[in-house]
Amino acid sequence: MPSKKSRPAIHYRDDILTIEDIPLPALAERVGTPAYIYSRAAMQAAYARYRDAFEGMDALVCYAVKANTNLSVIRTFADMGSGADVVSGGELRRALAAGVPARRIVFSGVAKTREEIDFALNADILQFNVESEPELKAISAAAMAFGRRARIAIRVNPDVDAGTHAKISTGLTENKFGIALNRALGVFREAKTLPGIDIQGVAVHIGSQLTSLAPYGLTFDRIAAFVGQLAAAGIKLSTIDIGGGLGIAYHEDTGPIPTPADLAKLARERLGGLGCRLIVEPGRSLVGAAGLLLTRVIYEKHGGDRRFLILDGAMNDLMRPALYDAYHRIVPVVRTGAPESPADIVGPVCETGDTFARARPMPPLQPGDLVAILDAGAYGAVMASTYNARPLVPEVMVDGGSASIIRERPSHADMMALDSNRAIAFA
Ligand SMILES: *Cc1c(COP(=O)(O)O)cnc(C)c1O
Repeated sequence: MPSKKSRPAIHYRDDILTIEDIPLPALAERVGTPAYIYSRAAMQAAYARYRDAFEGMDALVCYAVKANTNLSVIRTFADMGSGADVVSGGELRRALAAGVPARRIVFSGVAKTREEIDFALNADILQFNVESEPELKAISAAAMAFGRRARIAIRVNPDVDAGTHAKISTGLTENKFGIALNRALGVFREAKTLPGIDIQGVAVHIGSQLTSLAPYGLTFDRIAAFVGQLAAAGIKLSTIDIGGGLGIAYHEDTGPIPTPADLAKLARERLGGLGCRLIVEPGRSLVGAAGLLLTRVIYEKHGGDRRFLILDGAMNDLMRPALYDAYHRIVPVVRTGAPESPADIVGPVCETGDTFARARPMPPLQPGDLVAILDAGAYGAVMASTYNARPLVPEVMVDGGSASIIRERPSHADMMALDSNRAIAFA
């Protein structure tokens, strides 16, 4: 019998899809569908892989909370010693509320507002990752108003093609992120003259869902050379933030994907001699495979020669297929072994883009049967909307043989209560 440790958190037990020790039909009965279901053990195991990979190096793992901002998810990592990478004032508040120490929080994001900067300065976070010269000046001015200096890194854009989807590629000069490497020295020099700025490091994040190590290698070499250039200009850094971006195996046929250990080894080789603390910001690779979207078939419909499986989950619940043409494995919760035939798997929302998969081999399914969309723990619930007046989907955390609702499904009355008719006074 396989040990409990080696068994994946999400697996078939007697042909019933089970998460840790709980069969999914039992969860569907209690919380309804659609629902996001997460495995805490899978999240903890993913974090442990990063912790172990960077052990012995001066490194801090900062969970990129935008992948899944649920407080229970952030707390799972905070309890293991994780820091956080946040990209908004809202995420910063969530990281703090979930127990991440301020001195382990990095504030990334393309354009921080004065309110966000003030809040972060007050909280005394580890570091602002600055993305432009105007932002640098705004942070300096805000820090001076507090009589303080802000610890910052400057996010550089290494002009490296991450080889990922265009909508999640961030490391090319044509993207809006960071400061082009060939201009960055000047910006560091300027930063050095600003009274509210304490230069701590350099930051980079080249994209998401990377499935090759090569773009990281290129990036690290460019960063190492740049750190040397800075040193020659009298600017000594104490941190290098290498961003996140490691991919997960969404597709059945995905080849081997670099592991945190591969990334750590490369970082040690290329950046280890620079005397800097490394910051790594994984998001997707900590939570993506730990969650699924549990749905039910509403109808099966035949149109022309096509078979449509219409689920109660839709693009507003899980946007990745519509937004990025993303592939997700979609499986029946009860495995029968009946022959499969191609089906278009869609939601009920009034958009052609509300399509999870086309011509996907699926067994016969009846209305009411459960279907799981796998690898939905990252960029799933956080991107959901209420389009078509659909309530946000609840989230459930499974922990061995127990489970908790970690976000409630709002009622229609709750949703309507946010609509108001309150006069705005101008006098
Ligand atoms: C989104 C983001 C991450 C996390 O990316 P993943 O692909 O989810 O690992 C890390 N750092 C920054 C700055 C980001 O914007």
